[in-house]
Amino acid sequence: MNLPPTPAILLRRIEHGDYDLILTFLTRDRGKIGVMAKSAKKSKKRFAGVLEPFAVLEIVYSGPGRRRGLPILQEASLVHPYSGIRGNVLKTAYASYWAQLIAEWTEAHVKESALFELYRYALAAMERGEQSADTLSVLFQIRFLDLAGLAPGLDRCSVCETPIGVSGERRMPFDLVRGGVVCAACTASGPSRTTGRILSQQGSPRPRSLRLSSGQAGQAGQAGHVAPAGQAPGVGEGRATYRLPGGVRSERISLSMGTIKPLLWMQHNGLKTAGRVRFTPSAARESLTMLEAFVPYHLGKDPRSLKFLQRIRK
Ligand SMILES: [Zn+2]
Repeated sequence: MNLPPTPAILLRRIEHGDYDLILTFLTRDRGKIGVMAKSAKKSKKRFAGVLEPFAVLEIVYSGPGRRRGLPILQEASLVHPYSGIRGNVLKTAYASYWAQLIAEWTEAHVKESALFELYRYALAAMERGEQSADTLSVLFQIRFLDLAGLAPGLDRCSVCETPIGVSGERRMPFDLVRGGVVCAACTASGPSRTTGRILSQQGSPRPRSLRLSSGQAGQAGQAGHVAPAGQAPGVGEGRATYRLPGGVRSERISLSMGTIKPLLWMQHNGLKTAGRVRFTPSAARESLTMLEAFVPYHLGKDPRSLKFLQRIRK
């Protein structure tokens, strides 16, 4: 028995033997799934060459009932190829990074409609070139984190909870371990203050809708797990490592108000409004520096696709 058709985006393809492919899809109706595409490697005709990364497809695959192994992909028809992404190395690197976040950190078989819409939106906008790939990566990461309940705290000090802007700061440090910005008063009192929320220990105040695969989220904050400095672009200016009591190393990344405000818009508005937010080049760079440190830190691992992206973006 086959399941009803569902829209799906191909995240990953792995060769299996001489003939078959193992495919990971993000489906609109059933979340992340793995399927076997029989003879897809041997015969291009079998699926008419549509099994390409990032393509939006309509797929039909076998339902439960098969005693062992993956469901079998029965049909795949093309909805949108997004071939303009695959023809561009930088766009491919971005789309691959987003795909890896979904493939490795979301739980299988859990419907994630908002995540499906976010990924499809980001791919479509990148293909059309209406927003820079940098800005779309800011959008994808900040909303992915929000769906995962790991939203960076940008609207108030993560130590004393004073709303931002009250003291007239033009820049605020973003603390990786706390997962939020820190006001001038709390910065002045130094990293020895340990009152206040540490994101990885107490969870985000925002509800978490995206279920991460078990054991992935919240590994950060443990002593010793700090993404090495010097990975993200433009690092050096405004990024400093220091040590919290108990031997936990943390990092602070300086963000200007001109970066924090559009980030808040992207976090708290609908996808279409968020997708229209514009960044100055320096705000885009600061946002990427923060997010590309924050994502690996709080997910507990450095995605290989992110390293590749950072290498070719230089
Ligand atoms: Zn404070």
